[in-house]
Amino acid sequence: MRDQARAIKDETLAHLDRYLEQFAGNAERAGARIHWARDGREVSNIIIELLHERNAKRVVKSKSMATEEIHLNDALEEAGIETVETDLGEWIIQLAHETPSHIVVPAIHKSKKQIADLFVEKIGIEPTDDVDKLTGAARRVLRQRFAEADAGISGVNFGVAETGTILILENEGNIRLTTSLPKIHFALMGIEKVIPRFADIDVFLKLLPRSGTGQQLTTYQSLITGQKKRPEDEGPEELHIILMDNGRSRMLAHPVTRQSLACIRCGACLNACPVYQQIGGHAYGSVYPGPIGAVITPQLIGISKATQLPYASSLCGACREVCPVKIDIPALLLHLRSEIVEGSASGSVDEQGPVKRKFSEHLAFRLYAFAWSRRRLYEWSARIARLFQRAAVRQGRIGKVSGLIAKLAPPLGAWTAGRDARPIAPRTFREQWRADSEIK
Ligand code: SF4
Repeated sequence: MRDQARAIKDETLAHLDRYLEQFAGNAERAGARIHWARDGREVSNIIIELLHERNAKRVVKSKSMATEEIHLNDALEEAGIETVETDLGEWIIQLAHETPSHIVVPAIHKSKKQIADLFVEKIGIEPTDDVDKLTGAARRVLRQRFAEADAGISGVNFGVAETGTILILENEGNIRLTTSLPKIHFALMGIEKVIPRFADIDVFLKLLPRSGTGQQLTTYQSLITGQKKRPEDEGPEELHIILMDNGRSRMLAHPVTRQSLACIRCGACLNACPVYQQIGGHAYGSVYPGPIGAVITPQLIGISKATQLPYASSLCGACREVCPVKIDIPALLLHLRSEIVEGSASGSVDEQGPVKRKFSEHLAFRLYAFAWSRRRLYEWSARIARLFQRAAVRQGRIGKVSGLIAKLAPPLGAWTAGRDARPIAPRTFREQWRADSEIK
């Protein structure tokens, strides 16, 4: 199945121009309006202009990484349009003014208690740790928003060239409501989401839910071909499909980076990655976290703005093992590293010369190498750190560090801004070994 999926993606990417035109033609024949957008700004402008023309002020949104990628919510809010996320996880992070930490489960970094406290503060419910009560409260608020909305905005999982159909997968039913209740539906689709034939859906319907959440099938699969045809039909009166490039043609141009566009955003590589598991999604500092984020973010925003990301990997290959479309992420990471060091010969990223490393970073690594390749210094550094950490350890963990300690140890401040740190053990392995040997 993985081979089939990759073959479909490779075929599509080899003839992307043709399939996109076919998709656009068929979607328009079915009644949708197609818009082409070079970048995020153009997407926002198209949506805002159409909303203003229709005097639409309230929008409901379903989860879409493409809209996160272009910071659409910020643009809509700036234009005076009230935007409400309706996926439960996305809504939680919208209430908390945070960003997603996972591409499938955006609020995975939050505990039940944190969510309960947030709901108490933001929507005024009674304190509870009952999950049914929490989701019930969210449902009540969101149902009202659906009923009031002038327009709905969604992403797209796949666009079928043969029929002009878009397919969107979900579990909560909020996408069904977003795409069918308001009068206008905007569907934002990256140009790589097109697939040639309706029958190809079969492969991806089996692969995506299994890889994403371990389900055989998502609860809802919305197949949308054009807007509603008769007044008594369900669905919106207008369907606008926005085909967005935003750096994707640049990825397409190079034979190595092209495979990044085969990604179906299942999130399996994040779950398998030992680095992601330790540092969490926010540490990547980009909309797309994890292994696939480390690959596509530098290509989307320019390698000079994301030089750390291709190095945020141990190259263990766990991501390649699980990827349902067999993307060779370690090979892509190495390719991007070589572009950082040697300059971009391929032109697949924005830099033409090698990216200069910061002097402070060089110095820090030299000092680190000097100290930790000398036994006594290594052992002393552990003792000193153990002494200093006393000020920060609470209940066996180092929580958010700020003030003087964060200034003295900036990496600790940065690390604990998004997650706890584990303190250094009371005795190192060497100390235990020595103590045990003395007893014997
Ligand atoms: S790179 Fe592969 S595993 Fe990772 S999100 Fe994309 S399709 Fe899923």
